[in-house]
Amino acid sequence: MLKISAIPAFKDNYIWLLQRGNHTVVVDPGDATPVISLLKALSLNLDAILITHHHADHIDGVNELLRHWPAKVYAPKRSQYNFPHQAVAENSIIQLGALELNLVVMELPGHTLDHVGYYGANSLFCGDTLFGGGCGRLFEGTPQQMYLALQRLANLPEDTAIYCAHEYTQHNLEFALSLEPDNVALTQRLADVSLQRQKGEPSLPSTIRLELETNPFLRCLKPAIQHAAGFNPSTAINVDPAEVFSVIRSLRNHY
Ligand code: ZN
Ligand code: FE
Repeated sequence: MLKISAIPAFKDNYIWLLQRGNHTVVVDPGDATPVISLLKALSLNLDAILITHHHADHIDGVNELLRHWPAKVYAPKRSQYNFPHQAVAENSIIQLGALELNLVVMELPGHTLDHVGYYGANSLFCGDTLFGGGCGRLFEGTPQQMYLALQRLANLPEDTAIYCAHEYTQHNLEFALSLEPDNVALTQRLADVSLQRQKGEPSLPSTIRLELETNPFLRCLKPAIQHAAGFNPSTAINVDPAEVFSVIRSLRNHY
């Protein structure tokens, strides 16, 4: 059976660990230390490393991990890296034979221009693109690019499990509720997540279904969100959802 678990790193990063038998893959190892301790303790082999984008908190552990295991590294072709890797782009297929798992690459520019996601086995590893109840900041891309990337994810099957790289869900949901105080699913999710966090459990994985119900960045066509963004949904028939997205992304930056 394929097992997926979170290795916490830094203040609020998750390095996702995929495991079948004693074979493993990690996603975005910004820090090698917690990965090495865990794999050594359980006598597991690191087969591969998946990178979603070039930020330090997602790649800085790679060289150290490669000193311990001859793992194959996959990283987006738009960036350069100081470690050996196979460059991936839209529709690249990652065959992880020992894990009996194939993943397909989706290019998701917005947070950075090189950003990719890895999709397969009903799961999405989306780095800093989609977060629980939110989305990544726009460091390199335009709001239009990010909106489009998020729309692609919104169209994945609703039961797709969402593995993001940060534990930002609770604060994201508090912001979401400030935009949509009457969203019952959102109120419920915030209560659920608060409880999980009190117990020290991750709020992830989420699902596309849950995000569609509660994530304002996937709800730019909803009148309540458009209203909160300062548009009048009843008179403005042609409100551009990417513009709504842009406004609420700015609001979130200062929340
Ligand atoms: Zn990042
Ligand atoms: Fe990050």
